[in-house]
Amino acid sequence: MSEHGAFMASLEVAPGIFQIQVPIPYPLKYVNCYLIKGEGTALVDCALDTQDTKGSLALPAGKEVLRAALLEHSLRFSDLDQLVITHHHPDHYGLAGILEAEGAKVSMLDVELEHGHRFWTEPEEHNAAGLAHLQLHGVPEETLAGLAGAMAKTRSCVHPAKAPVTLKDGDYTELAGMKFKVVWTPGHADGHAVFWREHDSVLLAGDQLLERVTPNIGLWAYSRPNPLEDYLASFKKVSALDASLALTGHYRPIENIRERIREIEAHHQERLASLEGLLKAGPATCWQLSLKLFPGNYNLAQRRFAWAETLAHLEYLVHQSQAKKEFAKNKFLYSL
Ligand SMILES: [Zn+2]
Repeated sequence: MSEHGAFMASLEVAPGIFQIQVPIPYPLKYVNCYLIKGEGTALVDCALDTQDTKGSLALPAGKEVLRAALLEHSLRFSDLDQLVITHHHPDHYGLAGILEAEGAKVSMLDVELEHGHRFWTEPEEHNAAGLAHLQLHGVPEETLAGLAGAMAKTRSCVHPAKAPVTLKDGDYTELAGMKFKVVWTPGHADGHAVFWREHDSVLLAGDQLLERVTPNIGLWAYSRPNPLEDYLASFKKVSALDASLALTGHYRPIENIRERIREIEAHHQERLASLEGLLKAGPATCWQLSLKLFPGNYNLAQRRFAWAETLAHLEYLVHQSQAKKEFAKNKFLYSL
């Protein structure tokens, strides 16, 4: 088995809930999918359809890792009754169409169907809007070409569901016969949802909070206008649940949820302060500011995330009347 960990036994992280780690070609290295076994079976998030790669990364095919992990429970893809999605990002949604074709009922929040699922089912429209958005915010031509190529590659690893079922904020849903409350937590994605098992206060947290890194909060062409404000408001809803354990989309589960939330909130306040400092130098595009806010050697995909994260913070400042935005020479410029 590769050093990337081609196969690891799934771990029972809460009663009836097993964590399955599937390798992904991103810096986070793995996505956590959760198998719930009770009256029937449900899977929470599903990894993306990567192919085997050789070389230093030696990444095994995501589908095969998931298949092997389920077999450990004597389950095949066709035995999965349900697949529920916390959000539409490729590492959480990529295999949905394949599992659906095997018989799983796929569900997600109604907002995510409109704002996330359609990102995959309407590629031309979204690619064009995405590139225009990057351009208006100062991303140079040569970078745009590289980003378009990277997006085409990502799209080839994502199989959206054909007939997803929608859930509503505040509803209760049954996963493998267990009752979970659906809670809409926009920010990391517009229709991001967490699922709370009331009787033991276990939270399927998606990428709302993560152990070692702060989840990316980016403003994309198809995002709600102020994702950072959404995200900080979502934490109020998560805090109110007072969950005992957060089973997250990456890294290890989190027990002290309120403390981790405080750390992430403080991180965003620091980033906002840094950005205000940079804005003192005069009007600049989001791209220019992102190079200063995130100095260092990043690959193209990471630069795109840095840019989107910078934009989310800039728009937050504009909405708070702490920064100004103007349109000049076909670009948006931000200043104090
Ligand atoms: Zn993720």
